[in-house]
Amino acid sequence: MSHDDAAMALLGEAARHACAFLDGLPDRPVGALTSPDALRLALGGALPDGPSDPSPIIDQFVNAADPGIVASAGPRYFGFVNGGTLPAALAADWIVSAWDQNAGLAACSPASAVVEEITARWIAELLGLPDGLSAAFVTGATMANFTALAAARHEVLRRAGWDVEARGLHGAPPVTVVVGEERHAAIDRVLRFLGLGSEAIRPVPTDGQGRMRTDALAGVLAGVDGPLIVCAQAGNVNTGAVDPIGEIADAAHAAGGWVHVDGAFGLWAAASDRFRHLVVGVERADSWATDAHKWLNVPYDCGVVFCAHPEAHRAAVGGGPGAAYLMPTDAARDPVQWNPEMSRRARAVPVYVTLRTLGRQGVAELVEHCCDLAAEVARHLSAEPSVEVLNDVVLNQVLVRFDDDDARTAEVVRRVASEGTCWVGSTVWHGRTAMRVSVSNWSTTSDDVERSVARIVRVARIR
Ligand SMILES: *Cc1c(COP(=O)(O)O)cnc(C)c1O
Repeated sequence: MSHDDAAMALLGEAARHACAFLDGLPDRPVGALTSPDALRLALGGALPDGPSDPSPIIDQFVNAADPGIVASAGPRYFGFVNGGTLPAALAADWIVSAWDQNAGLAACSPASAVVEEITARWIAELLGLPDGLSAAFVTGATMANFTALAAARHEVLRRAGWDVEARGLHGAPPVTVVVGEERHAAIDRVLRFLGLGSEAIRPVPTDGQGRMRTDALAGVLAGVDGPLIVCAQAGNVNTGAVDPIGEIADAAHAAGGWVHVDGAFGLWAAASDRFRHLVVGVERADSWATDAHKWLNVPYDCGVVFCAHPEAHRAAVGGGPGAAYLMPTDAARDPVQWNPEMSRRARAVPVYVTLRTLGRQGVAELVEHCCDLAAEVARHLSAEPSVEVLNDVVLNQVLVRFDDDDARTAEVVRRVASEGTCWVGSTVWHGRTAMRVSVSNWSTTSDDVERSVARIVRVARIR
């Protein structure tokens, strides 16, 4: 067998393993079946001294890892806001690995660079964002928020006469970041990474659904002096609620601020005629962060950042003047000028293929499908006397509480997880423990919802 034949055989085996996994995905127990210690035992041991045939190694590895694989790509996983993988997206992702393009530079992969341009434009169009935005494909919404807020930091300090890229933050005018109390923890992390610090945050009180209160925002803004960034949220990770983005943008702009939207999953509401009303005014922001690996159902990892001020975006994360030698001789856009990462995989490719496959209508249907199933979850569960649905189910998230009791609710979540029909997370919502159900997977059906709800109810009836 030539080297190439061996490589082909290995890929064939890998594809068989992958297909066997996908085939069993809808029926395997949803949670992991083992402990980290058992996995250490199965996977550990000494680093081998020398080379060996990869084929049995792949085989053994897949079998040893299997009990520690969570069926989060499957139809009855409702944890976090995870999403699965559409077949077309997975196929495209395999090709990305085979191509092994370094997507950081157009010179290393003209195809990847051009795919990014096109895909970013298509996403912006779906999300109802303006023309002419700069964009980058990053690992997730955390890095998308990082990139957007780096651009914001640049711009608000530039307006105050401070060049943060040259001088850093020592001695800089303080930057105030106004954001709702129910923001995602990613915002706080990113502000730490950016050297702005958690004390830069002025939290704005939120309403019963976790939306920033615009009356309270006005009060907070009145007390702010100097460089200002305001972060709105599209899609509260507990309730799915969306901040009143248009009103926030108008108030923040009147106060001279930069308006950023963290819309990891919620921004996708804009792709549907039925849900677009939730994000009205979204186009008036200055930057946006979203994920493709959540609601668009492409494989991990893929987040996307958009910025309405390309100069600020590029100044904040681009290569700077010293990187001129990196520029290609032709006119293709160089991804590294817009992305804090340099070498990386061509992660826009699965998004491109997915959008070509689904089209505008397919994306709208994906969003509506998940929201409709979330409404079904809420309807079925609230028919049970001991169950309370805590949120207005406006999107794909449902918060559920049992017997109005923290310990009972936590116990039901634990039992559901160990039983294996479905997987749901837990959270604390306004001081009360709740089960959190997120419907984010293209392959979830009404039947999956009925089976899962029936199981949750059965588990909840055990005293
Ligand atoms: C998931 C999420 C994030 C973090 O996104 P990652 O892709 O996990 O980095 C940030 N903000 C919101 C609102 C989210 O839902």
